[in-house]
Amino acid sequence: MISTMTPYHEELKLAIEIVNTASKITEWFREVGFQSYQKEDDSPVTIADYATQIYIINKIMEQFPGDQIIAEEDDNSFLDHKAKRSINSCYEALNIGENINIEKTLMKKDKYSKRQWTVDPIDGTKGYQKGLSYAIGIGFMINSDPKICTIAVPNYKKFGKAIFIAEKDNGSKFAINNSEFKPINVSPQSQLKQAKMCHSLHYDEPWVMDFATRAEIANFVQIDSMAKFCMIADGTADLYVKPMNKSRSFTWDFLPGILLVQEAGGTVTDLQGNSIELQNDKCVVSAPGLIASNSIIHDDIIEKLKGSEIFNKN
Ligand SMILES: [Mg+2]
Repeated sequence: MISTMTPYHEELKLAIEIVNTASKITEWFREVGFQSYQKEDDSPVTIADYATQIYIINKIMEQFPGDQIIAEEDDNSFLDHKAKRSINSCYEALNIGENINIEKTLMKKDKYSKRQWTVDPIDGTKGYQKGLSYAIGIGFMINSDPKICTIAVPNYKKFGKAIFIAEKDNGSKFAINNSEFKPINVSPQSQLKQAKMCHSLHYDEPWVMDFATRAEIANFVQIDSMAKFCMIADGTADLYVKPMNKSRSFTWDFLPGILLVQEAGGTVTDLQGNSIELQNDKCVVSAPGLIASNSIIHDDIIEKLKGSEIFNKN
């Protein structure tokens, strides 16, 4: 059960419904097959990213029409006739999304509002394309201050569909296969050498494993997407170290994971221990990487990172 007494329970309820249905869209495309495209920055995007984002924006607009929506995909050049037909077939099969104007919804540019939603329709698109781990992340903030988040991870640790949620000052919870939401907490691990570390399958840089070697870490989980934040929040792993591009880090990628880990008792900072500031669509960091941990080993991680070549490069 989620509380109906908290300030943003309406937003949380909507965000849970949204990621739940959104994961049906992504799984539908996974079963029937999907078209992939290359974005200008060379990262991949699929028709499922578009179908999911368009659905999510439409649902938020319906319930909170004045809110600003900050969503990842902003290029409609891939939306040809065939792509639109494919999106409509998915909506029809799932019995959702009646009367959505696909193009208009995708390209909707909102005015600034202090009420802001962030949308990552598929996080870990490379993992999604390969049948591996991916996630769908929604965040909500007031004046760039995170209030709630939801993350759906289809096939989380092979258990089934997990939905993770967090509310500011009200903790983190999760549910598997639409069961009741239960509170989650970070691990009690206090020894960095024995800690289990999450890192990326497709986006790592050499300094990440150099750090792990220096810290004598021997246990690893290597997966795609913000599911790594979920693993820190529920105590499956103890730390996560991630490279960040200082000028191209966006709130839709980070807000859900940061709030989830913090509300589960963990700590998230940049590589030098400074907090990560969210400003509308941007994440502002003073060092080009992120550490998420169970809090207990956080200072030890920062200490071991000192002298890392990443600080000489930037
Ligand atoms: Mg994405």
